[in-house]
Amino acid sequence: MAQLDRSQKLEILADAAKYDASCASSGSIKRGSSKTGGIGSTTGMGICHSYAPDGRCISLLKILLTNYCMFDCHYCINRSSSGVRRAAFTVDEVVDLTLDFYKRNYIEGLFLSSGIIRSPDYTMELLVQVAKKLRIEHKFGGYIHLKTIPEADPDLLADAGLYADRLSINIELPSDAAIEEFAPEKSGPLIRKTMADLSGRITEAKVERRKSRKAPLFAPGGHSTQMIVGADASDDAAILQTSSKLYTGVGLKRVYYSAFSPIPDASKRLPLAAPPLMREHRLYQADWMLRFYGFSVSEILGGAQGGHLDLEVDPKLAWALMNRDQFPVDLNRAPREMLLRVPGLGTKGVGAILRARRFGRLRLADVERLCRSTKKMRAWIIAADWHPGRWLDGANLRSKMVRPARQMELFAA
Ligand code: SF4
Repeated sequence: MAQLDRSQKLEILADAAKYDASCASSGSIKRGSSKTGGIGSTTGMGICHSYAPDGRCISLLKILLTNYCMFDCHYCINRSSSGVRRAAFTVDEVVDLTLDFYKRNYIEGLFLSSGIIRSPDYTMELLVQVAKKLRIEHKFGGYIHLKTIPEADPDLLADAGLYADRLSINIELPSDAAIEEFAPEKSGPLIRKTMADLSGRITEAKVERRKSRKAPLFAPGGHSTQMIVGADASDDAAILQTSSKLYTGVGLKRVYYSAFSPIPDASKRLPLAAPPLMREHRLYQADWMLRFYGFSVSEILGGAQGGHLDLEVDPKLAWALMNRDQFPVDLNRAPREMLLRVPGLGTKGVGAILRARRFGRLRLADVERLCRSTKKMRAWIIAADWHPGRWLDGANLRSKMVRPARQMELFAA
């Protein structure tokens, strides 16, 4: 095979990394200034945006160490049986690229994943070497997110946590049966065990840090995973139940959902079309309800048809429509847990209401000021000068809430 230069490798290995949803920049058109003599480009290979643990949006160099892989996961473009063009960076090449981009202010960190070459241990060792070189030899202070390989020796994963801000292990599919079918070399129980071990180490390190500021940091940004939506027959119920167990059972910081997109040279077992993108969006909304609004999976799925979330309304509104007896909620008296269930009211708005109501009864205009808009919540709330009357009793409440926006006819008779 012809030798590839650094930029050719970057082109292949940045493109191969785009299927990982845990950090993504998308939605922009391809635009470059090299031929026009202007400035700016949206095609900076491998640069994506993600959120740091403190909520800052940061730009990352997102690449694979290599897209060679000895595993044959059906949903993956880099699987061993795929005819994709292959490339591999050396450890030093990734280190140099990261430092080079960092010094030029293109990035604030590195997101590094890899196909599995030779053995899971060998691959994990290379990933750790990159992070270690950056941190120890080059005193790199930027963000590092390493994708870890569950089949690797636990000691290597323990090393990874010493140098990375965040670790992730992709579970990819919600059930062990689906993993067995679509990723035959992987094991659901092993993935969950590795996640649980990581979680234990993260907790231990936090306890040690509380005792002494000199105790080493261990993956301070926690660990995350990704699930592909629509590659197998799993419904939203199965996906959310798995997420919920991962949050409570193995202390995951975040589950990312990635709508399956048909890949070139795809396995015949995969569907030919992608699921509606709205499905991924609804799962993110439901996930938010699990993590921040205090809903259980069974509440979120209360009205699900055939195990799937309603695509027409967001899941919080769907729950409210089915539980109208719990509304309207008095914004001046209701506890935080109930305020969080009001459609259109987010965690920031709830915090602002709780603070403001210590100083007096809130009127609708006050809520408008605190939450920017009360349009979505008016049917569900009571304020000092506002009551929705019999609004909630209307048989057509749902259709009023989901009516699609329509352009007015300019020349209607
Ligand atoms: S192990 Fe990872 S890179 Fe290899 S085929 Fe499976 S998902 Fe793709």
